Amino acid sequence: MDKQAMFAQVAHLEERIGELYGELGSLKQKIMELLEENQKLLIENENLRNRVNRQTPKTGESSVVGEGFDTLARLYQEGFHVCNVHYGSLRTEGDCLFCLSFLHKS
Ligand SMILES: [Zn+2]
Repeated sequence: MDKQAMFAQVAHLEERIGELYGELGSLKQKIMELLEENQKLLIENENLRNRVNRQTPKTGESSVVGEGFDTLARLYQEGFHVCNVHYGSLRTEGDCLFCLSFLHKS
């Protein structure tokens, strides 16, 4: 193999390593995003589970049947979406117009 061919091969290898490095970076980014998403879902799941547990009617307590709207309004106050667009996810950007129009319609 002459020097020029060797040099070309090294350059080619260098290029491939660069591409792989780029792919590795974007894969790492995706993993980070998935971990964040997973964490968010864990928290939401926990919050919703707590809400459901707290709302299970106990014997002797006044009936909560038919209080669905209050429940949704409360969920909204506690920072969750109740609209069908983002239902159950945390409200991260203040008031949601979908939620508000849904609550005011009911
Ligand atoms: Zn909403």
